[in-house]
Amino acid sequence: MFLKPDYIFSDLTQLKPEHLEAIGVKGLIFDLDNTLLPPHTQQLQAYVAKWLEGLKEGGVPFIVVSNNKDVAYLKQAEHLLDVPVLGPAKKPSTRMIKQALAWLKLPPEAVAVVGDRPLTDLWSGQRAGCKTILVDPLMRANERGIIHLLRTLERLPVSVPKHTQEHLYSL
Ligand SMILES: [Mg+2]
Repeated sequence: MFLKPDYIFSDLTQLKPEHLEAIGVKGLIFDLDNTLLPPHTQQLQAYVAKWLEGLKEGGVPFIVVSNNKDVAYLKQAEHLLDVPVLGPAKKPSTRMIKQALAWLKLPPEAVAVVGDRPLTDLWSGQRAGCKTILVDPLMRANERGIIHLLRTLERLPVSVPKHTQEHLYSL
């Protein structure tokens, strides 16, 4: 297995529609937990909400694909974000990534899959032919110790990205 995110971002909300346009990304497929919402809170943070609003205004459509198995929670998230939330998706399966591409009405190469977990989010995106953006988890500090350790280990096979956040700012 060879995972190569196209971009790694520490703060997703620094990503602007003009940056996406510069790299040929016309739509986004987001992971849910720890990418858009802090896990177990069911709350959308104000700065994330504002950023998502900016994406909509900038003409960048997005949809969410989650591995969370709690269907009631996914419905709540859908209401909160006001876009479809597909799941449970069993990423790295590409099945719901393909459904999301159909909803976006965009070819995979014009879409970036954005998530905090290489072995699920990035792998599914890469397999579906999308661009991939790895982000830092929203609430890393609050995660239980073992999960934190597993996530650290999970990131080890991730190779150096093709581009960095700083590169994008120079576009
Ligand atoms: Mg996640």
